[in-house]
Amino acid sequence: MNGFLAALAALTAAQGDALEIAIPHEAGLIAVYAEWEEQRVPLVRDTDRWLTVIGVDLDSAPGAHALVLERDFGAAGRRREPAQVQVTAKQFPTTELTVEPGYVDLSPANQERAAREARETAAIYATLTPERYWSEPFSVPIPGTTSGNNFGHRRVFNGQSRDPHSGADLRATTGTPIYAANRGRVVLAKDLFYSGNAVFIDHGLGVYSVYLHLSEIRVVPGEMLEKGTLLGLAGATGRVTGPHLHWGVRVQNARVDPFSLPGL
Ligand SMILES: [Zn+2]
Repeated sequence: MNGFLAALAALTAAQGDALEIAIPHEAGLIAVYAEWEEQRVPLVRDTDRWLTVIGVDLDSAPGAHALVLERDFGAAGRRREPAQVQVTAKQFPTTELTVEPGYVDLSPANQERAAREARETAAIYATLTPERYWSEPFSVPIPGTTSGNNFGHRRVFNGQSRDPHSGADLRATTGTPIYAANRGRVVLAKDLFYSGNAVFIDHGLGVYSVYLHLSEIRVVPGEMLEKGTLLGLAGATGRVTGPHLHWGVRVQNARVDPFSLPGL
């Protein structure tokens, strides 16, 4: 089996995983794309390899999912190679939470606001920037933290079922400095109804990291952040039971565990 086929054999991921795809460079190869879950994701060249990251949503069905790798050799044509990612099931517990009633039974004004913000964030996640802004491994936004809590948990707020928890909660007191997990562009930095003070970073290739419930925001939309840039301070704004950092990652719109990113 050559290196290309070897790279595509036995791809497996759990629900809620980010999965790095790497294939070897070959003479004449000018572009590579992965077709994954209805999206076309570019791979970027990194010396002797082509790399990208694809996302397996936390609610993705267990079993085989089709992945097609397309290699563009310019005048020599394009080659398409079908492959599969075996998605394995994860057990996500249910968590019961109690929050201020206004975050569960929304006023008409807040309903309208939450719906508008949901459309705004959905449009961000649906945008795939075709370059990779980062080159180093990802790191945890609170140095020294090695794990998060509650990723994928089914949630019941004040007795009512809500969306699963799509990020990792990191222990933090109000005022704890929060640093960018990798290089990328700030695409949102403002107060949201559920998320409180929020910072969204576009890392390129459809990878976004978000930092929620901040007490203070220290960056502005459009700013390019280097990995490790101070972006805000942890807090307890929005729908929370206390101060912490909610760190979320989307990969081509799939909700993935930030701790499954390359480097973590
Ligand atoms: Zn959270």
